[in-house]
Amino acid sequence: QQKNQNKKKKKNKTKTKTQSEKEITFKQMPIISQIQFSLEKQGFVKPTEIQRRSIPPFLDGKDILGNAKTGSGKTLAFMIPCAQLLHKGKFQPRNGVGCLIIAPTRELVLQIMKVAEYIMANQPQTFGHVIGGTDKSEEARKLRNGINLLVATPGRLLDHLQNTRGFVIRNLQCFVIDEADRVLENGFEEELTQIVKYLPKKRQTVLFSATQTRRIKDLAKLSFKEKPMYIGVHDDQ
Ligand code: ADP
Ligand code: MG
Repeated sequence: QQKNQNKKKKKNKTKTKTQSEKEITFKQMPIISQIQFSLEKQGFVKPTEIQRRSIPPFLDGKDILGNAKTGSGKTLAFMIPCAQLLHKGKFQPRNGVGCLIIAPTRELVLQIMKVAEYIMANQPQTFGHVIGGTDKSEEARKLRNGINLLVATPGRLLDHLQNTRGFVIRNLQCFVIDEADRVLENGFEEELTQIVKYLPKKRQTVLFSATQTRRIKDLAKLSFKEKPMYIGVHDDQ
């Protein structure tokens, strides 16, 4: 019985700790005031679990493999650190792309752009997107003018990397793949292999997905230099 009681005690203790961690607000996190202001304006007070656990190591430059179900707030989990890293690096248009975010579909790219719009609203860094099925020369012009945070579908991005002169990617700090599982499902593995060859080796890589599959591990091998930090959010937590 004594043993049982101890077990119970231990269980309660862990629960209390998780509980207090869950009370953390964005204000208590190491996020710059420009972004705090944007979050406040959106009415976001508390980070979701994936945000609370990913943002600090992301800001520390760690490579991350993040796993949390749809609707868990993965977009802000990478958008907040990306915006902050660009601000900290004092990126200017002529520095080109500092953060590159890849997503599997045009619709997703546009959704991510909406988040970029409000998170980046109070800082001077530029943001933009390139997607299939749109005017390529207009995109090329914007790339030449300098996009600091670029959101893209894999096919069109590779096209620009291969063909757009004046597209500066050598200062890339951070490479993010969102919905990595769907990137693979949509058959973009070959494009990704090619894209990675154009990116500077010294960079941070972050991969987010809603599922955990064997192929994600393969993609991880392709994108990370060393073993990334794994952050998984599961329903029972
Ligand atoms: P995922 O990419 O994991 O599917 P999203 O990033 O699309 O999730 O976020 C899902 C929804 O939750 C969005 O409507 C978003 O605005 C909202 N959301 C994200 N983070 C927070 C937060 N910290 N507080 C309240 N709502 C949030
Ligand atoms: Mg998402």
